[in-house]
Amino acid sequence: MKHIRNFCIIAHIDHGKSTLADRLLDATQTVTAREQQAQLLDNMDLERERGITIKSHAIQMDYIHNGEQYTLNLIDTPGHVDFSYEVSRSIAACEGALLIVDAAQSIQAQTISNLYLALENDLEIIPVLNKIDLPSANPEEVSDDIVDLLGCEYEDIIPASGKTGLGVDKILEAIINRIPPPKGVEDEPLQALIFDSVYNPFRGIEVIFRVTNGTIKKGQKIKFMATGKEYFADEIGTLKLNQVPKQEIKTGDVGYLISGIKEAREVKVGDTITDAKEPTKNMIGGFENVKPMVFAGIYPVDTEDYEELRNSMEKLQLNDASLVFLPESSAALGFGFRCGFLGMLHMEIIQERLEREFDMTVITTVPNVSYFAYSKKEPEVPIVVNNPSDLPEPSRMDHVEEPYIKATIITKSDFVGQVMSLCIEKRGLITNQTYLTPERVELTFDMPLAEIVFDFYDRLKTVSKGYASFDYSPIGMRTSNLVKVDILLNGQIVDALSALIHVDNAHNIGKKMCEKLKELIPRQQFDIPIQAAIGVKVISRETIKALRKDVTAKCYGGDISRKRKLLEKQKKGKKRMRQVGNVEIPQEAFMAVLKLN
Ligand code: GDP
Ligand code: MG
Repeated sequence: MKHIRNFCIIAHIDHGKSTLADRLLDATQTVTAREQQAQLLDNMDLERERGITIKSHAIQMDYIHNGEQYTLNLIDTPGHVDFSYEVSRSIAACEGALLIVDAAQSIQAQTISNLYLALENDLEIIPVLNKIDLPSANPEEVSDDIVDLLGCEYEDIIPASGKTGLGVDKILEAIINRIPPPKGVEDEPLQALIFDSVYNPFRGIEVIFRVTNGTIKKGQKIKFMATGKEYFADEIGTLKLNQVPKQEIKTGDVGYLISGIKEAREVKVGDTITDAKEPTKNMIGGFENVKPMVFAGIYPVDTEDYEELRNSMEKLQLNDASLVFLPESSAALGFGFRCGFLGMLHMEIIQERLEREFDMTVITTVPNVSYFAYSKKEPEVPIVVNNPSDLPEPSRMDHVEEPYIKATIITKSDFVGQVMSLCIEKRGLITNQTYLTPERVELTFDMPLAEIVFDFYDRLKTVSKGYASFDYSPIGMRTSNLVKVDILLNGQIVDALSALIHVDNAHNIGKKMCEKLKELIPRQQFDIPIQAAIGVKVISRETIKALRKDVTAKCYGGDISRKRKLLEKQKKGKKRMRQVGNVEIPQEAFMAVLKLN
């Protein structure tokens, strides 16, 4: 145990966590030259394509220092604000953290929020000034910023470059010397924290854990405390680039467990593993509950695929504990699920993973936040509304509350004006403005969550030419004057297109929705009226004109293969469409409300 170090790497997105992790793996010869690949730990295809880390990853390195062998368990964490849940889980399994700061970008919003998470968990922080090879690097100033933030000494900061490998040896030394070894008692009953799990179609569920007390042995009869279920530890081992089976994993160490579990709901991230015969009395606490921020319906394109979709979501949930879902039904779309996501990026990723990993074709409906509605009859009891169509009739309703957040934005002083106008447009109220340095300003706003989850981040990047970083935390519910805007196609309300909108914006958004839907819904053999309405009052109207010509007509007598190609193309295009009444609605239409600017 004296020779184990568990640490994670935290940073703002793109400050170089994954690249630096690669260098640590090289330096400890955890990967051979043949296995080398950039951002090695981002092993999901989706992560590679997007160049971002979505899942946290655990990997074990061996390192010899002063003639003694050490085991270093590294957990790489995602930096995007949507995935801070992954970060907090990883942090709970560590004693120390490398805090990476880009020497050209300095401290950004998520540097600070991740640092706070680490400090709350009493982690030892090792500040690393990264990318000092960059011509635009500003090591002196950024070091000042780090010292200000951490209250550390200049000597504590390790200058490094994930690109050239500079500083990597110093970092490894600091991991050994500054991060404390795990505490824990070897001869106590087994107590291990599940901090991740992966679904493997061949081997069942792989549980990733950290032993807090005691030892887990191959073949041991174990118990998951939250579910009360018992299993045999068929295979345990450590996580190198591949899994390495072991006979036992001791106090303080990190490993994987395979025990033939097939049911996703049996494994709960945050649960405690103990010995079945001699159980520990205490479950390990300290896990933050997942707080979904955005809700949307996910429906199978083919109604028959409902059960298969449920299975796929359960498996996906196992690998991503932040996904939550409940069955729901929609008049327009039939049976599906109301899902909670950490943010829009998370929602996109879930949809893509369902399609790629589980071969499901799904429709995602208009996303919304979670509201509280109060009825006149019981004005003290909030009704949780995760779907606008669940909102009570306006005549029976007392008032509605929506979630607010505190937004922290760090930007260059040149862009303060633009950032402020954007935040005010998004119904924000400025609460503070602090100059961190003459050029860098921190602004805080109280804002409705609904205004920031959709396109806020992109707009912020645009108005600040990329020089703004952003983070937020919930500050509770506030009363708002919101109305439900319904969309009618062919005179029928399409419940999956309804949205709650602030009364001041309702007319404008209703109008834009109709215009956008007119663009997005393909023309059919008949005219399709599109209307936006608040209650029975129509606030806007457009018409999709009937199609005149048979599109394949021009192919008759002509090239048959061309006609087939055209039909194939139409068929493909149809994949993500849903028939609602006699109107075909493409997936984009459900997202239209997000892209009205
Ligand atoms: P992460 O989001 O924190 O995991 O960041 P990545 O490791 O994916 O790096 C983000 C970008 O910065 C990539 O294009 C890297 O190639 C680049 N990068 C990372 N470290 C360095 C460095 O030390 N020097 C330079 N010049 N570029 C780096
Ligand atoms: Mg990364």
